[in-house]
Amino acid sequence: MADFVLLDRDGRVLIVTVNNPPVNALGPGVPEAIVAAVNQGAADDGIDAIVVIGGGRTFIAGFDIKEFAKIVSGERQGVDLARQVLAIENCPKPVVMALHGTALGGGLEVAMGGHHRVAVASAQMGQPEVKLGLIPGGGGTQRLPRLCGLETALEMCVFGDPLAAPEAMRRGLIDKIIEGDLLKGAVEYARTASVRRTRDLRDKLPHGTADLSDLVELWKAKAAERMRGQEAPLAAIDAVTAAAWMPFAQGIEYERELFERLLHGEQSKALIHVFFGERTVAKIPNLAPDVQPLAINRAAVVGAGTMGGGIAMIYANAGIPVLVKDTSAEALERGLATIRKNYESAVKKGRLDQAGLEQRMALIAPTLTYDGFERADIITEAVFEDLELKKRVFAELDAVARPGAILATNTSTLDVDVIANATQRPEWVAGHHYFSPANVMRLMEVVRAKSTSDVVMASSMELARRLKKVAVVSGNGMGFIGNRMFVPYRQQAVMLVEEGAAPEEVDRALTDFGWAMGPLAVGDLSGIDVFWLVRQSWKHLEKPGVRYAEAEELLYQRGRYGQKTGAGWYRYDAQRKPHPDPEVLQMVRGWASGAGIAQRTFTEEEILDRCMGALVEEGKKVLAEGIALRPVDIDMVYVCGYGFPSWRGGPMFWAGIT
Ligand code: NAD
Repeated sequence: MADFVLLDRDGRVLIVTVNNPPVNALGPGVPEAIVAAVNQGAADDGIDAIVVIGGGRTFIAGFDIKEFAKIVSGERQGVDLARQVLAIENCPKPVVMALHGTALGGGLEVAMGGHHRVAVASAQMGQPEVKLGLIPGGGGTQRLPRLCGLETALEMCVFGDPLAAPEAMRRGLIDKIIEGDLLKGAVEYARTASVRRTRDLRDKLPHGTADLSDLVELWKAKAAERMRGQEAPLAAIDAVTAAAWMPFAQGIEYERELFERLLHGEQSKALIHVFFGERTVAKIPNLAPDVQPLAINRAAVVGAGTMGGGIAMIYANAGIPVLVKDTSAEALERGLATIRKNYESAVKKGRLDQAGLEQRMALIAPTLTYDGFERADIITEAVFEDLELKKRVFAELDAVARPGAILATNTSTLDVDVIANATQRPEWVAGHHYFSPANVMRLMEVVRAKSTSDVVMASSMELARRLKKVAVVSGNGMGFIGNRMFVPYRQQAVMLVEEGAAPEEVDRALTDFGWAMGPLAVGDLSGIDVFWLVRQSWKHLEKPGVRYAEAEELLYQRGRYGQKTGAGWYRYDAQRKPHPDPEVLQMVRGWASGAGIAQRTFTEEEILDRCMGALVEEGKKVLAEGIALRPVDIDMVYVCGYGFPSWRGGPMFWAGIT
């Protein structure tokens, strides 16, 4: 146990250094060791005060997430952090917590058990449990409001976003920012500190009989908007507001009750699956063990359209200089203007400052020629979806790229092997399939063609990590993982309308389930013409005697391409808000009667069964064919690229296939 903390003293101050590298996670034995060290300080007549600090690069970064899974499976007993934090708080001598790096989750709860908190300005603190479908379980929901008031505690526990130290100081979470050496500053602070237990503070809480219903309703509305369908944010609201009217001990019990219920619930299991899934998919199991990813310092993109522009932004955001080539000055200008507009909107939203914008723009160099491409470590092609064009572009790239440069295609539907074979070096070619808008969507399918080398695969995965993407390996099959499964899923949605359901009923069933958008609204967003084209390229795969969805053809013929033409499955007003359109129903009903398709009504459950059933069935085929390596790869594709609710863990996890 002693290993988890190192003890030292500076005069009459005991220094407890938490020692569980790399991030001092609260694995079994760590909180116990801190408590034992604090008790030792309390019993020592030569000690007046205690400083707790993290060894290495951070304070306590959080509870060890692997342990949650063990608790749920019964492998270990429940979390006892609340009792341990209480034991720290009970210390009769002042305890000062010294924070650097991150104090998250259980780490912040331990910090709040101290009598004072000091931090370096770069430290971050937060209660991100909600991102795992949980609430703080170590007293966080009761101590945070006592230190910072209900609003801040709600913000931190409901959304899970961290605060930087200066802001945390403003809100009362920490007492002092230490310039210079943290330990020295903390020890000095401790010499004059007094015992001040967080649990005894009340001045930031409303009166015990205050009416909190407006506050509760406001936060429920915020949670519904940003975290629709999730249980943990609502539990966080309950627990935090209880701090205002329950005595502390009762509040702790209430928090425990809610925490336990969430921990054993489906949503938390799903979110923990997604958390580990992100790490699992980053590793390719069948790669030669000695391959080292290549250094990538310069990039180039061919095509400055929707995707090419977005891809250039991704590189610039990661600080990698990128050339962008198109065929005309107008196309380049348009592309660059869109990029600038996107950055300007990030500045307006406060996500980027003006200097950051200029820095990024300076990294993006437009060009009409291949000059400079010979120095690129990676070239990504994003020209029109036209096989002959792509083959030509790859032959050109083969002539200009240096040996050892990665050549990537962003094709959505074409055969990467055929594209690779347009070069003399197919082993250097892979698919890098980004999702629109590329600078926003986290997913990237890395397509392994037959000839793609291990070094290109390993480098692509490492690159994706740098670009802050979740990369999932996909085999080179039609539609890769995501679009391949999306086609039958959308087919069902369209067929349901053909059989009598209204478009908004179909979409509502799926958004009620948790999808960010319904499948028909997705058609309107991406363009009915785009889906029509995809269908044409897949038509040869359609089997005789099988019914396929046809109603979208009707929309296409009438120029109802979706949002861009003001009408698709829905009619759009000037704000692009969708409205049900009786004309669509009339059109589809007329066609269905001619085609002899029986009409009826559908329950939400039936709609869900049909659409989700098709999605999962195709997922099974994708697995059987080895297009996806593991069920979790499919889950991550859907959670990170298709707006599938993370709290359901992905379609395969939801279907019990893991
Ligand atoms: P786009 O029409 O917006 O852009 C294509 C750009 O390529 C245009 O600016 C065009 O001028 C340029 N171009 C054409 N020929 C060129 C050449 N020889 N050299 C240089 N530039 C050339 O198309 P997009 O939506 O950006 O799609 C590009 C690729 O990305 C396609 O393969 C598409 O299937 C794929 N993709 C698109 C999406 C999407 O949602 N739009 C998503 C994933 C993948």
